[in-house]
Amino acid sequence: MTTFSSLNLAEPIAKAVAAEGYTTPTPIQAQAIPPVLAGKDLLGIAQTGTGKTAAFALPILDRLARNPAPLRPKSPRVLILAPTRELAAQIAASFFAYGRFIKVSVATVFGGTPINRQIRDLHRGVDVLVATPGRLIDLLDRKAVMLNCVEVAVLDEADQMLDLGFIHALRTIMPLMPKGRQTLLFSATMPKAIAALADQYQDRPVRVEVAPVATTAERVEQFATFVRSGDKQGLLTVTLQDKKVSRALIFTRTKHGADKVVRSLEKSGLRAVAIHGNKSQPQREKALEAFRSGRTPFLVATDIAARGLDIDNVSHVINYEIPNVPEQYVHRIGRTARAGATGVALSFVGDDERSYLRDIERLTRQRIPLSPLPTGFEAPAERQERSAPKKPHHRGQGPSQHNRGQKGDVRVKGDGDPRRDQPRGENEHNPNRPKHRPRRRSRGPQGPRAAAA
Ligand code: AMP
Repeated sequence: MTTFSSLNLAEPIAKAVAAEGYTTPTPIQAQAIPPVLAGKDLLGIAQTGTGKTAAFALPILDRLARNPAPLRPKSPRVLILAPTRELAAQIAASFFAYGRFIKVSVATVFGGTPINRQIRDLHRGVDVLVATPGRLIDLLDRKAVMLNCVEVAVLDEADQMLDLGFIHALRTIMPLMPKGRQTLLFSATMPKAIAALADQYQDRPVRVEVAPVATTAERVEQFATFVRSGDKQGLLTVTLQDKKVSRALIFTRTKHGADKVVRSLEKSGLRAVAIHGNKSQPQREKALEAFRSGRTPFLVATDIAARGLDIDNVSHVINYEIPNVPEQYVHRIGRTARAGATGVALSFVGDDERSYLRDIERLTRQRIPLSPLPTGFEAPAERQERSAPKKPHHRGQGPSQHNRGQKGDVRVKGDGDPRRDQPRGENEHNPNRPKHRPRRRSRGPQGPRAAAA
């Protein structure tokens, strides 16, 4: 087994790793750190949650520790490109943490914050620049930054950068760096476009691949509940009232949907904040801070906003709406079960979302156990007709069924296909029963494909 000491990181970097409480390198770190230390290009297929930030940050900081150089105005030595502001901020925070025992200057530039301060920081000179592509282009246009001294370039979450349409920005940025630079490319998935990117901008990269999409999901206990769209809000409220749901990240497909969920939770006396693309940067930061500190236990987010979020101790991820891209499901549930911890993911599957659930099961090669609706929620008519049980299968089954240690506790009746036969706990006393019976009226299809974060 690889240990941190066998990686021979410079002493102040090893000390910072120890101070972070890391004892063993994660698989991506064990595989990526040696070739990166050796100066090779690297193509890493890894998702957030695998420890990939340290996999590139540690060897980069090692280089800076061993070869210190005076700061040059506007000319960073390391450029890290990330698709979102949140991810950029988190990467910078990791550099500060792992670089705390060396003299290193790290700057972050992304949209939604005043550009003048960024121009000033760059003018003073920085070692490491963490940027989103759009803002970097803006700064390049203003001649506030030059890339001709870049020794190491990192493209993090490259697949997401392409999804967000940053390819043109990358085509502008990449040629501005010296040919002999080291290029590290990380991507959660490996579509052809990423292979092409690697081909174009890397020199014989070492390829490392860890935790394929299917395996990250295995650490998370997953459940799905069939529920009418109109009943989702009530189900969410009941679910979050369970004390075991100590810190939950709730995903919606749309910004509007996220705001609506927050309003409704607040009406029920539950503290929640939303984070999505329409929020200003200070609003996003405030929301994240409230969630991180535990002041607000529930964060409602769209996929784009949540990508790469690294928040400890998220006990539950709730898919209020099921993503139509199955990989997205894996990214979402990876927000819990960080760094080896376990977590619970609950998916509220509307009638129009069942095909998405099947796609997810195909991708993860796992059957997601069905969890019955708590008392007070009617199963959709079609399933009731088939084989609605006269008696509940579990006594006192509220939303706590979702919690750890009850993974296998999902029983079904009827034709034996849990997809078609979801037990419910009617007529039972349930302290979590919602005061108002949830609306039965279906709101009809919600246009999952039309919505964007
Ligand atoms: P990342 O995939 O870079 O977003 O990292 C996910 C989480 O794992 C972060 O909270 C890191 O602090 C944590 N982490 C990274 N490397 C290790 C390690 N070797 N041991 C324990 N935790 C780690």
